[in-house]
Amino acid sequence: MDLDARYRKLPEALLPWYHKHARDLPWRQDRQAYHIWLSEIMLQQTRVEAVRDYYQRFVAELPTIEALAQVEEARLLKLWEGLGYYSRARNLHKAAQQIVHERNGCFPSTYEEILALPGVGPYTAGAIASICFEQPVAAVDGNVLRVLSRIGEDFSPIDLPKTRREMSIRLSNVYPKGACGDFTQAMMELGAMVCLPKSPRCSSCPAADFCLAQHHSTQAQLPVRLPKREKRVEQRTVLLLQCQDKLAIQKREEEGLLSGLWELPNFSGALSPDMALGRAAHLGVQAVELCQELHRVHIFTHIRWEMVCYHILCKNMAAGLVWATQADLQKDYALPTAFRIFLQAAGLAQ
Ligand code: SF4
Repeated sequence: MDLDARYRKLPEALLPWYHKHARDLPWRQDRQAYHIWLSEIMLQQTRVEAVRDYYQRFVAELPTIEALAQVEEARLLKLWEGLGYYSRARNLHKAAQQIVHERNGCFPSTYEEILALPGVGPYTAGAIASICFEQPVAAVDGNVLRVLSRIGEDFSPIDLPKTRREMSIRLSNVYPKGACGDFTQAMMELGAMVCLPKSPRCSSCPAADFCLAQHHSTQAQLPVRLPKREKRVEQRTVLLLQCQDKLAIQKREEEGLLSGLWELPNFSGALSPDMALGRAAHLGVQAVELCQELHRVHIFTHIRWEMVCYHILCKNMAAGLVWATQADLQKDYALPTAFRIFLQAAGLAQ
């Protein structure tokens, strides 16, 4: 059986299985483009379990594209707090404003138009076009690439755009008329629940009969990836400055990593306690006591921050910083996880 013939078997094998086994996820209650778009953007680099609550909170507060277009950026970032990759939220905002102002609130319905929205790549465009508008366009993410590599026993590295493109075209060619959305979701579901990276559940897989990797026991070797680029390691020193019931925060610059979000004052390098107290003095803070030293690592896509944080009790609230209570921080300021972990570690947040 050639590769195309294996792909052609997929819809018939997967659709009945999907109808029986699909997980009940909040964004599967309907096929509104807004809901599918939002969920797909949230699910990029983020686990389904982590997204559930965020998605529900987000839709409860911003139930329409118009509401998203109008929301203040600070509020939007607060709703996104903890999900990471904040440019996703900013792009959602920009795209919603485009849809409202340039398209009268009407979500684009072709793959090409969807792909032109800010923050939307081929995978997300394929997912929306097929799930919401029944277009025969594959949505090929890491999960789907793994399934396809194994079914065709294809050793082409999946990080290469060429591999992705070829698999995507081949898969789009077998999309079943009238069931495009279900087929996209079935492929995603198979990758997420059955064809797992480490221990694929081949004995309960609907594609096992025609999966070459299963026949040749090569599942563990697939998919092939190019060697990963080493992450850059940065040492940082963070100051958790507390005066009475308030903590010092400041806004990050509008460019670069975590741009425009809030942060605890922090510096490059692993500073000693004395040096950290010196930096606090430089910020205009009179320290009363250095009460804790905390160590944490936070990993971004290309950078690893190895951080030491000094929890310092202060006598005064220096003017150059914003001083916020725990309740303020909970409600009004988007503080990324890289800093929030220290509030939690110091018992100053849940
Ligand atoms: S048979 Fe196994 S390796 Fe093949 S697609 Fe199914 S789960 Fe993946």
